[in-house]
Amino acid sequence: MTSTYDITLNVHRYDPDKERKWIQTYQLEAGRIMRFVDVLRKINDTDDSTLAWGSSCEHGQCGTCSMKINGKPLLSCELLVENAVKYFGTTTFTVEPLDVAPVVRDLVVDTEKAYERIDRVKPYIINPVLQDEDEMEHQISPETLERYVDATRCINCFCCVSACISSHENFLGPNAMLAAIVRIMDPREQEKQERLDCLYSADGVYRCHSSQACSFVCPKEIDVAHFIALAKEGAL
Ligand code: SF4
Ligand code: SF4
Repeated sequence: MTSTYDITLNVHRYDPDKERKWIQTYQLEAGRIMRFVDVLRKINDTDDSTLAWGSSCEHGQCGTCSMKINGKPLLSCELLVENAVKYFGTTTFTVEPLDVAPVVRDLVVDTEKAYERIDRVKPYIINPVLQDEDEMEHQISPETLERYVDATRCINCFCCVSACISSHENFLGPNAMLAAIVRIMDPREQEKQERLDCLYSADGVYRCHSSQACSFVCPKEIDVAHFIALAKEGAL
């Protein structure tokens, strides 16, 4: 088995100062177990320090290194070169920013803009169930938690949004709907109506075409489309 691959990256670049878009080709030797974030860092270190991309934890927990590789939205910290070669059957990769918000530069998108839809559903507890004074924590039964715990694993990487085929411009999108669903299914939260109104508004679940592309690409293996289907059936 080869220990390195000669790979080619065709990277979609954008320079906001010159308002210029172009595709730049990088050719480099990459180790089998290098991840795509390592590949991009190697390009920065050895070839082109101007290539902009984002990452933070680089352990699949923060969602900041998401991008499209050969058209598939994914976390670049989780994709090994050898797995990419096997999965796509090639050593040539097209690397693009997610198409979920305006591009700031190269592979970096405006996350504040992307988060606007999630902010609409207020992804936090607004009005918690009152507790007895001596209770230190809200308890959720295992049976109740089991129904929605998968949805709480969302890291807002926006891969599902990028893959979603619903083109309506104001559509909440899969991860914002998932955030609303979590708070609706959370027994600690009393304020459900605002989220239900959002979910069943003209921008909500009925804009979803049930393609399940969101579930297919989710790096946290959340069956997003299942939760959206529950909402469509009124079964939250
Ligand atoms: S549902 Fe999955 S793909 Fe969508 S933002 Fe959350 S973690 Fe990412
Ligand atoms: S199932 Fe719905 S939300 Fe998920 S990708 Fe398809 S249209 Fe988008």
